[in-house]
Amino acid sequence: MKKTIDILGVPFLHTTRQAFIETLQRHVEQKSKTFVVTANPEIVMHSLQDEQYRGILQQADYITADGIGVVKAASIIGDPLPERVSGYDIMLDLLQVADRQRYSVYFLGAAEEVLQATVAKVREEYPNVKIAGHQNGFFDRQDPGVAEAIKESGADLVFVALGFPRQEQWIGKYLPLFDKGVFIGVGGSFDVFSGNVNRAPDVWIKLNLEWFYRLAKQPSRWKRMLVLPKFALVILRGKASRKK
Ligand code: UDP
Repeated sequence: MKKTIDILGVPFLHTTRQAFIETLQRHVEQKSKTFVVTANPEIVMHSLQDEQYRGILQQADYITADGIGVVKAASIIGDPLPERVSGYDIMLDLLQVADRQRYSVYFLGAAEEVLQATVAKVREEYPNVKIAGHQNGFFDRQDPGVAEAIKESGADLVFVALGFPRQEQWIGKYLPLFDKGVFIGVGGSFDVFSGNVNRAPDVWIKLNLEWFYRLAKQPSRWKRMLVLPKFALVILRGKASRKK
C-alpha cells in the first residue's frame, strides 16, 4: 500500500528518493504502465483552479514532492514528507539504473538543440542506455503520431520535458494508448542536463534557496514565483482554521 500525504487535495507519495527509484525499477521490470507527476507548489495551485488538470493528476500513479515548498507545507500541516523527490533527480537516478540494466529510454520535449545535446550527453555518460528515440517539444500535441511512434519504440522509460501543465496533459491524454512504459514529466530538466540552464550550486540547494538562484538567473520567472507566497498563505490559513 502506498502512503500519501494530502496537500490541498493533491496526494503526495510519502517516500525517499532512493525508495522511489526502486519502486520505478520494479515497474519497468514488470512492464507495468506508470504515470509519475513531480509536483511543485505551482502545480498544486494550478490544480485548485483547473478542474480538468485536477482530473489528470488523479490519473497519476505517483505524485512526488518537487520543491522545498511542498516539503515545508507537509511539515506545517503536521504530516511531514521525508524529502524532496524532484523530476531532475529522478531523471538522473533513472538514467543510472537504465545504464546498469540496459533499459531503453525515449526523450520527448525541449528545443531541438537542447534535445540533441541531451541525447549526446546520455550517449557519452550512460553508454548502455538504449536510446529508443527522441522528439523535440514543439509539435502538434493534438496529433497522436508522436505517441504512436513512442509506443512503436517499445521504450521502458519516457521522459516528457514539455513543461507544466503541457507534460501532464500530454501524458494523461495518450497514456491509454500504451501497454507499458514509465512516463514522467520532468519540466525543464533537459535544459539543465544539457547545460543550457545551470542548476544552482549545491550550497544553494542545501540552503533550500534554489528558487532564489533561479529567480536571480532568470528574472523573467518572477511572475511565476508569485504563486509561492500564495501557496504559503493557503497552507497557513488551512492550518489556522483547523486549530479553531
Ligand atoms: N517546452 C516544450 N514545448 C513547449 C513549451 C516548452 O518542449 O511547447 C519545453 C521548454 O523548451 C523547456 C521545458 O519545456 O525545455 C520547460 O519549459 P518551461 O520553463 O516553460 O516549464 P516549467 O519550468 O514550468 O516546467
